[in-house]
Amino acid sequence: MNHIIIIGGGPAGMIAAISAAQHGAKVTLIEKGQLGRKLLMTGHGRCNVTNDTDNQGIMNAISGNKRFLHSALMTWNVEDMKDFLINHGCPLKEEDNHRLFPVSDQAADVLTLLEKNLKGANVDLHLNHTVSQLCINDQKCTGVVLNDGNLIEGDAVIIATGGMSYPVTGSTGDGYEFVKDYHRIIPPAPALVALSCTLQNGESVAALQGLTLTHVKVMLKDKKVRHQARGDVMITHFGLSGPVIINMSTFIQKNQSIIIDLLPDLDAQTLDAMLVKKLQNSSHKAVYHVLSTFIPERLSHVLLKLCDIDSQTKAYAITREQRLLIVSTMKQFTFIDLKRRSFKEAMITKGGIDLKEINPKTMASKKIDNLYFAGEVMDLDATTGGFNLQIAWTTGYVAGQSAALQNRS
Ligand SMILES: Cc1cc2nc3c(=O)[nH]c(=O)nc-3n(C[C@H](O)[C@H](O)[C@H](O)COP(=O)(O)OP(=O)(O)OC[C@H]3O[C@@H](n4cnc5c(N)ncnc54)[C@H](O)[C@@H]3O)c2cc1C
Repeated sequence: MNHIIIIGGGPAGMIAAISAAQHGAKVTLIEKGQLGRKLLMTGHGRCNVTNDTDNQGIMNAISGNKRFLHSALMTWNVEDMKDFLINHGCPLKEEDNHRLFPVSDQAADVLTLLEKNLKGANVDLHLNHTVSQLCINDQKCTGVVLNDGNLIEGDAVIIATGGMSYPVTGSTGDGYEFVKDYHRIIPPAPALVALSCTLQNGESVAALQGLTLTHVKVMLKDKKVRHQARGDVMITHFGLSGPVIINMSTFIQKNQSIIIDLLPDLDAQTLDAMLVKKLQNSSHKAVYHVLSTFIPERLSHVLLKLCDIDSQTKAYAITREQRLLIVSTMKQFTFIDLKRRSFKEAMITKGGIDLKEINPKTMASKKIDNLYFAGEVMDLDATTGGFNLQIAWTTGYVAGQSAALQNRS
């Protein structure tokens, strides 16, 4: 019987352990803390466990090499994961954009289910044990060394140590260190994360802190618009957050700005015509008051400042040029100096083990025999919506299966 060692008890490591055991292996899972600490935080504790879409839908949500998962999804896809969860007592419900959650709204139920399956499969759990290095002889992985110096030998090792985001959950980039002398590591960066930024004049966004801009159009732009989406944007003390921004954060590059169309359902001409009427009807009111019938009052003050117009100016005194400037600023409210917040706040890590050096059918290393990868440690990430967990489920299952079968002695 093969002995498979799995490093990391996150979603990818746990499903890999279950899969390897189901395929006849003796399995040892080593986790530096407790199982599934990050899993418990997913979906604000409700766990958006996957997305009810087909294989193409999963691949479309991946930000880089979309085809990498093609073969693996033939082995373990959304339907397989749904069946696994439902058949083991965790019914699912669908929410907007096909996101699937446990009916109970409890991520803990998903973890309990996985723990029961690990127990049922006789997986040997080593919790609160940290792997410090791999044993590699003649380009072959033969086991792992723990922090306390103990050596555990095995027929194959699966690295499922996650990325570097939310390091308090145990994901501190150890997997990259283990293989950095053999594999190319695409530099890890925080992704699916809020953005620090300033207003277009370089001033802090603090005056807008706490505002939610609803149903706006958000564009990520340099010389041209690179990405755009509609939704709600939250303004924090440091910059921008909310689902649209978090998904867009993956694509941010140098010298880009976020441009928000505050009123995307009105074209500039229509908006101007409406503004003309409102300024006329309230000619003795302050201009900020008129603008506040379109956008939040605090935003009106900031927007007028950006246009170099005193908020208290009476509506009748607004010139045509000033009015047109107000309209164009409402259609293109700009944030600059974009920076992703740190790993501490990022939902996922972009970058990791280069996919070119991993066999997409088996998750095996192309550089070291008897070594496999699963989950976020690889250079594989997706937008929000349950896709990142599906990456962990699919790659974990396939790595467990291939390690158990290919090394059968
Ligand atoms: C706040 C938050 C919310 C999220 N919500 C969702 C969601 O709703 N849906 C979704 O699809 N995705 C979500 N994600 C992303 C998702 O949680 C991750 O993509 C997923 O957990 C990755 O699984 P993994 O098993 O590869 O890595 P991880 O979950 O990071 O697990 C890696 C494990 O390896 C262990 N480990 C690391 N190094 C060692 C070592 N040297 N020795 C022993 N053990 C080690 C760590 O302790 C850790 O437990 C969210 C992420 C965050 C941070």
